[in-house]
Amino acid sequence: MKVPCKHCKTVNTLKISEHNIGKKVRFKCANPVCHNLNQVFVSEEDLSGVRTVTLHEDKGMVLGALLEVLPNPNTVSAIFHVEEGLNIVGRASSSKKIEISIKTTDRDMSREHCQIEGRRNKYDSMSYTIEDLDSKNGVYINGIKLEAADKVFLEGNDIIELGNTSLLFLLKYKSS
Ligand SMILES: [Zn+2]
Repeated sequence: MKVPCKHCKTVNTLKISEHNIGKKVRFKCANPVCHNLNQVFVSEEDLSGVRTVTLHEDKGMVLGALLEVLPNPNTVSAIFHVEEGLNIVGRASSSKKIEISIKTTDRDMSREHCQIEGRRNKYDSMSYTIEDLDSKNGVYINGIKLEAADKVFLEGNDIIELGNTSLLFLLKYKSS
């Protein structure tokens, strides 16, 4: 399958196999000056035919993003706006103010667990990357763990797991 990089638009050719179906596959952009980490959802048709994936920008301009905290016995439900620039995400504490401060007694969530960066492109559309801030228990996106130096593009409806708490990442598109 052919997938354009979300950062530089270079079209990457991916080799996929049966075990990738129904899952997201991560790949590093082949453009040597880019090397950004991308991810793509693989469906059954991708094994038989050659699919060319289009960028999410084709759905329309991304105006912004929301992070919805899914409640559990330790964690209160909440919705946060993800701002342009850096947003540190973690367990709320009285000693340190962070942008996305989650009210939880989940001790497996670090106080500064991960960071989401919102960037605006020249067309005024937003894109978002996430990276682990050296957290105790790591960051999982749709069940796949982020490696230490990974900076992964988030897509709408991605599930971010911090400790035992799940967050739903939502993109807001400009309605055409
Ligand atoms: Zn690239």
